[in-house]
Formats: sequence, structure tokens, C-alpha cells
Amino acid sequence: MTHLHMDHYKAIWRVHEACQKARLILSSALTEAGALKVYAQRPENELYGTLHAASARQLPGNEPGMIRVHCGSSVRNAAACRATAIAPTHAACNDAEAHIAGLAARVIEARSSKDRAAARVREITNAGEVDPDAAGTVADLLQAADDSMQKAMAEAEGGLRDENRCSVGIHVQFSPDGPGALLAADMVSHDQYGWQALVSENCVQPCGKVSLLKVPHHGSERNDCGELWDRWVDAGAVALVAPFRSSGLPRDSDIARIQQRSGSIWQAAPSSRARDVVDGTDSTPKTGIVQARWSHATSTWTLATDGPAFRHRVSTPHP
Ligand SMILES: [Zn+2]
Repeated sequence: MTHLHMDHYKAIWRVHEACQKARLILSSALTEAGALKVYAQRPENELYGTLHAASARQLPGNEPGMIRVHCGSSVRNAAACRATAIAPTHAACNDAEAHIAGLAARVIEARSSKDRAAARVREITNAGEVDPDAAGTVADLLQAADDSMQKAMAEAEGGLRDENRCSVGIHVQFSPDGPGALLAADMVSHDQYGWQALVSENCVQPCGKVSLLKVPHHGSERNDCGELWDRWVDAGAVALVAPFRSSGLPRDSDIARIQQRSGSIWQAAPSSRARDVVDGTDSTPKTGIVQARWSHATSTWTLATDGPAFRHRVSTPHP
């Protein structure tokens, strides 16, 4: 699970349940306790159950069912496949931890001022100080304290979730001289948290360029940069893009930009923002599947699509 945005974890519980030997990989920047706390108020959230199930799961050989990774963590190390986390960076982990601690402190402060307000109301009520006309003022006092409490909690939840800089990015090398793929989640363009930082990051130095890239952050221009393509991606690589419907990503201009650096672009569903809702029934097409398989015989990726997934037709061939 790359990070706590729903577009990156929805229905992950199905995969987790169906694959009993699967391990849940989380970002180091989001502690298990922190992640659980976000959803503790809402146990109906699918993530709440998955986090519990994953931390209770034991894999063969006493391996834990859940691990937390950061830049340089080994995710899998075998002759046939070596997977390494390239993100989040250490700076992202440290700064996110401080940011989240600040948000939690505000929740604690809001909670105690709500308690103080409740105690004060009890005091004046017991002392019979409140005349019936002022009863509304007392209710307002409590309501205001509760509002600030709810606001602080919403901010803390949002703060925990909106951490694209904490995304887990994974580099997979299928054999020492075989192809590589980079799954870049919602990784960011940033000199401490993102692609620019990784150029001089020693712990990912052994990870080479890849011939397949899951384009970061739905192809958004904001999180694209030369350092990403120059450091990590072979010329003419296969690019996979997942749309983000509410922002209409990727835009045509994003596709044109990605086209300059890749050999083919495959998208899991159209970028359209439009939803097809009639009488409360949502018939908007679901996101499709892009499947990439490496052929040792031809040393090429073979791509297949399912549902609304498609390949972008290229107007100008890759130089
Ligand atoms: Zn996303």
C-alpha cells in the first residue's frame, strides 16, 4: 500500500484476503499505530480491518505479514527478483513524523479545552448560576468546543493521509541482467523528498535504469522532472499511467510530455472527469487493467489491456 489515499488502497483487502501469503508493505513514515489511529474512529473503513489482519498474519519462516519500508529497504531479495524501496526518503520520514506529531498535539489540546468547557458548564449549572435565558449561551460554549475538536481531528486525519511525499516507491530488478520496473506511486518532484534527492542518494545507487515505469502521481506535471527520467528510465521505456478522475489526470499535455521520454504509454482508464449517474445509479466505467509481461525470448515487454484500459496512439514516433 503506497500511502493512505483511497485511490491507492481501495479494495486492497480483497487482494490481501485472496493471497494469504501476501505481505502488506507500508511506508515507514506512517507508523502502524499512526495509520490505525486515523481509522480508529471509523472501523467500517476497509483499511482498518486490513491493517489489523496484516499485523496478525505470519508468513512461512516466521516472516512478518506487514513491514514498513523507506529509501533503501530491501523488499525482496532472491536470485529471480530483487525489489528495493526507493522512497520515502529519510527526510520525508523525519519531516512527516514531526508534522504528524504537531497535528496530534493539536488534537490533544482541542480535546482538553473541550473537557475544560464541559467542566465549566457543569460548575455553573450545579451552582444554579444559569438563568433559563442564558441556557443557549452554555450550549453554544459546548458546541464551539466540540467544533474545534472535530476540526482538529479532521486536520490530523487529512494530514496523515495527504502525504504523497511518504509514498512507497519500489524498484524491481527481475534478474541481474534482466529488465527492471519502477512503481512510482504518487512520488513527488522535490529536492529533499523526491526525484531530485534520489540522484545523490547512496542507498539506492545499486538500482539501475528500468524499461517499465508506472508513471508517478497520475502523470501530473507538478511531480515530473528531468531527474526522474534521466536517472531512472531507459529511452523508449514502457510507461503505465493510472488516471485520477477528480483531477482529470493525466491531461493531454501530460501525455504529450510523457511521450517525449517513452516508447509507449498505456493508461488504465480514460482521464474524463464526467460521471455517468442516472437516478442514483453510477454506471461510470471502472478502472481497467494493464498487464505487462517480460518475454525472455524476445527481450521485450508484452502488454495486454482489460476493460477500459487502452494504449495511447502516438502521433510523433519516439526519436
Ligand atoms: Zn494518487
